[in-house]
Amino acid sequence: MIERTLVLLKPDAVQRGLMGRILSRLEDVGFKVVGAKMVWMDEEFGKKHYFDVAERRGEKVLKVLLEFMTVGPVMAMCIEGVNVVENMRKIVGTTEPKSAQPGTIRGDFAHVSFAYADGQNMGIKNLIHASGNSEEAKFEIGLWFKPEELHSYKTVHELHLF
Ligand code: AMP
Repeated sequence: MIERTLVLLKPDAVQRGLMGRILSRLEDVGFKVVGAKMVWMDEEFGKKHYFDVAERRGEKVLKVLLEFMTVGPVMAMCIEGVNVVENMRKIVGTTEPKSAQPGTIRGDFAHVSFAYADGQNMGIKNLIHASGNSEEAKFEIGLWFKPEELHSYKTVHELHLF
């Protein structure tokens, strides 16, 4: 099933100069970038994107998360592929870099733990956001992109991978 997901390269990925290397991994898998832009979001927009974090993880996590996510621009991308929501989460790795498997983006480019981030009173720097499920993907793509910012085109991958 071909579907779309939202990916954010978070301020740590942008500021560490990892955008290209992370995007290369996504392109290597054969995913198609159908929308991309840099956005420096504010707290108000952050609360829309992370509308359920306070409920799921607590107010304190939301506060440090928004401080981190607004420290600089993010690279927002809409990515298309077969079961891309599930496949992207697999490639991204689990939320906590300490627990993320080697070979995943978070496991290969970061290592910090929840305990360390909480002790420092800061958001966990885990490089990348990817929508958690298809419903979340539809909501997040609608939040971040206007329809005219998303493009349909053919890649060479479609000859062999789709
Ligand atoms: P989630 O949607 O549950 O993955 O959480 C959204 C984001 O909140 C994660 O990608 C992390 O950046 C951040 N986060 C979650 N839990 C913590 C925590 N205990 N301490 C700091 N940041 C966290």
